[in-house]
Amino acid sequence: MAEGSSRGAAWNALRLKVLERDRYICAYCGGEATEADHVIPKKLGGKDELANLVAACKPCNSSKGARLGSRITWFNRNWLSRV
Ligand SMILES: [Zn+2]
Repeated sequence: MAEGSSRGAAWNALRLKVLERDRYICAYCGGEATEADHVIPKKLGGKDELANLVAACKPCNSSKGARLGSRITWFNRNWLSRV
């Protein structure tokens, strides 16, 4: 169950930027993140850009779909606190 087709060198560089920005902390459970996850899924119009990506650990990143609601809630709250 890979997400989209955004793999390769460009994705890898972007993923590392996200992980460094979020200090390798999973946005969902606070665990050690090794992946980057789309806040808004690509199939819903989300883009491969820093603003639409959060660090996530493997278990959280692989549990797609069910977390859509909570991830958007998290995203909005986090975004508001930065403004
Ligand atoms: Zn996690």
